Amino acid sequence: MFDDMYRENILDHSRNMRNRGLLEPADIDFEATNPLCGDRLRLTMRVDENNRIVAVGWDGEGCAISQASASMLGERILGMTLEEARQITKEDIFEMLGISLSMNRIKCALLSLKALKVGAYGLADWQRMQNEDEE
Ligand code: ZN
Repeated sequence: MFDDMYRENILDHSRNMRNRGLLEPADIDFEATNPLCGDRLRLTMRVDENNRIVAVGWDGEGCAISQASASMLGERILGMTLEEARQITKEDIFEMLGISLSMNRIKCALLSLKALKVGAYGLADWQRMQNEDEE
């Protein structure tokens, strides 16, 4: 079951997590939790005067999906402007992970995106994304 579900890139990110470790000080610092699974993720970022993300650091604990997703997202947003990173969607995360997810696992996969969205753009941004989903 485990082997069927997790593809190689997830294993790769789980074993060799990118950008792990918190930045201090950080311009953006937000911790998101997923009580359903017990996942916790704190995302820190530094941005330059052009709002470009010049450093990403995160720390957390939880299942392989939540941690791999944080590793992949951190790698992806590094070098983007905040405006560019704002365009990242849930589908982008699912695509990065490359596996089909059960309802419970979706929250794990999206925890890093939630930390990014709420931390950088505020709760309203994240909630808007949730609502779009239900329409
Ligand atoms: Zn999880």
